[in-house]
Amino acid sequence: MDLKESDRDKALELAEEAFESAKSSVDAFAPVVEIALEIKDPKKDDWSEGKITLNNTGKALAKNVVVEILGGAEVEEIEPIETLGANATHEIPLKIKITGTGDVPLAIKVSASRIFDEQTYEFETAETISLEKRPDIQVEIADKSGECPVCRGSIKEGLKVVKCKKCGEVLHELCARSAETCPKCNTPLA
Ligand SMILES: [Zn+2]
Ligand SMILES: [Zn+2]
Repeated sequence: MDLKESDRDKALELAEEAFESAKSSVDAFAPVVEIALEIKDPKKDDWSEGKITLNNTGKALAKNVVVEILGGAEVEEIEPIETLGANATHEIPLKIKITGTGDVPLAIKVSASRIFDEQTYEFETAETISLEKRPDIQVEIADKSGECPVCRGSIKEGLKVVKCKKCGEVLHELCARSAETCPKCNTPLA
């Protein structure tokens, strides 16, 4: 068949369009993994239970899903997941120990391969774990003078003091912080 020049251009254009559309549908056929991390009662330097939820919202099944947690935490080894289907959700129970202090940033990285060509995809999410602060000691302003039972020094009106909730003993704020319990009745001051 003898193509005219204009037909040939048109044909090339159509072929190119077909190629682009095939390529973009292959690209769209990919796993997309959403990551959520939950930690029950996170504690500093102690193990807590938690879970990672992976949700594959993409169109392709993900293979060899590897989860990694980076940042101020230790985690017991997480077994790779062989497959995570399209539209599937998978929960991974977790043992985690927070080693940072205050608001601890963690990054959760997931890598997975696409089902048919092993192309690797990476996903990442960041979470901030807020560690519960210990209840602080309640500080008051002295309304009368007296003697501190810890240091035997005098307590003057207007100084920062801590009053024992049980026996009413009054201590300097700093003495209360170092003593932690009331020297008279042994009640914790915090
Ligand atoms: Zn004192
Ligand atoms: Zn007391």
